[in-house]
Amino acid sequence: MKATGSSTERTIWNYFCCKGFSPAGVAGLMGNLYAESGLNPINLQNTYEKRLGLTDAEYTAAVDSGSYSNFVRDSAGYGLAQWTYWSRKEAMLNYARKTGASIGDLMMQLDFMFQELKGYVAVFQVLRTARTVKEASDIVLTKYERPANMSNAVKVKRAGFGQAYYDAYANTTATPEKEEITMSNSPLVTYTNITKNKTSPRNHAIDTITIHCIVGQWTAKQGCDYFATTDRECSANYVVGKDGSIGLSVDEADRSWCTSSRENDNRAITIEVASDTEHPYAVTDAAYAALIKLVADICKRNGIKKLVWSTNKTDRVNHANGCNMTVHRDYANKACPGQYLYDRHGAIAAAVNEILGPGTTQAPEAAPEPVQGFPATPFTVRVIIPDLNYRKGPGMSYAVRGQTGKGVFTITEVQDGWGKLKSGAGWIYLENPDYCTIQGVAAKPAEPDPADVLAQEIAGKVKASGLDPADVLNRVEKILGVA
Ligand SMILES: [Zn+2]
Repeated sequence: MKATGSSTERTIWNYFCCKGFSPAGVAGLMGNLYAESGLNPINLQNTYEKRLGLTDAEYTAAVDSGSYSNFVRDSAGYGLAQWTYWSRKEAMLNYARKTGASIGDLMMQLDFMFQELKGYVAVFQVLRTARTVKEASDIVLTKYERPANMSNAVKVKRAGFGQAYYDAYANTTATPEKEEITMSNSPLVTYTNITKNKTSPRNHAIDTITIHCIVGQWTAKQGCDYFATTDRECSANYVVGKDGSIGLSVDEADRSWCTSSRENDNRAITIEVASDTEHPYAVTDAAYAALIKLVADICKRNGIKKLVWSTNKTDRVNHANGCNMTVHRDYANKACPGQYLYDRHGAIAAAVNEILGPGTTQAPEAAPEPVQGFPATPFTVRVIIPDLNYRKGPGMSYAVRGQTGKGVFTITEVQDGWGKLKSGAGWIYLENPDYCTIQGVAAKPAEPDPADVLAQEIAGKVKASGLDPADVLNRVEKILGVA
């Protein structure tokens, strides 16, 4: 196998190098991804292409549109890492939905994978420090991908794939990302028409985002063309269209005339979003999703580590408490950005911050615990094959003690994808949906009978009184008319 030099290869290589993985670490990871998917982010496990009657592209489109709704639970390997287990597929689907990206989007999958890897603390550590492709490849195979076959032959093969990437790329890049401020424009732009309505250049570094509603369900082209031709002195850096199109009207290096405040527009990237023409000036889902992607991209390129919104105008206009989002209504008697977008500013900040990830200053030691993907114990699992082994401990290296047979079993503890049987007989492997189905939280012990509770209470009082219990009960029965 030879590295092809494709843009996908280089993108993946650069992505993980920039995230601080060592060259051997990146190569070891990539060799595994190649073995899983051929580095094709829309790759659907071949056996499922036949079973579902869908090609890679058809499956991807159907998941994106929602017409195929069994993505999480269909047990089909998908994407760069061939995510298969339901909780991991569910997490990836949620991530894609939140960022407005296709389930098959390369950058989305890389971002998701990086977040996921942070939860695999041992793997993450090795990928950052690995000096040999083999050590990185082995740990990705055995702790992250964990396919059924993890034999020595597989290890050698995957490390070989990784070595090819190492040989092709290790001496070409691999410098960690520098914290430099660049004034470029967004690569997400789909249409450009630069207006004369601007001040060039801006006089302040970009540290603020100002989102407006354009009061019209326009495309990005319509908005940019308007700013380029109108006699009114107005513009914006970007226009987001009703269809999710993104237009550039004023270069980021220049000040737009947008927010009725010279000071604000010198430091802000201004974005006009296509909206309805009346209250609450709602925007389409496509526009909203594109807006979040665009703002995240602006923040990334301009060194804005975190977006901070405040519902307090004083905070906003003074950039107090780290607040770096302002709105037009702070500077002029206007409804802009309209109630719809104003109410969503907190959600926009949260979605963008999710994409930006934790600050680079956060130590990897602070990485979250691995996502277990299992309900809280105890939960039940339905074993669907007759010959699932249970072992002495939570791992393949432990001795087989027997086979469960088909049926429903209660799991009282989970370790590393293995579940401890309530009977104490041993541990079964939970992460292969071809073997078993996780069912949910086991039934709690029945609530005590309320009559017993009341009887206990009465008995306690009778005892404490020192009176003859028989006499008291006799009288109680009379009162109740049951004597
Ligand atoms: Zn406005």
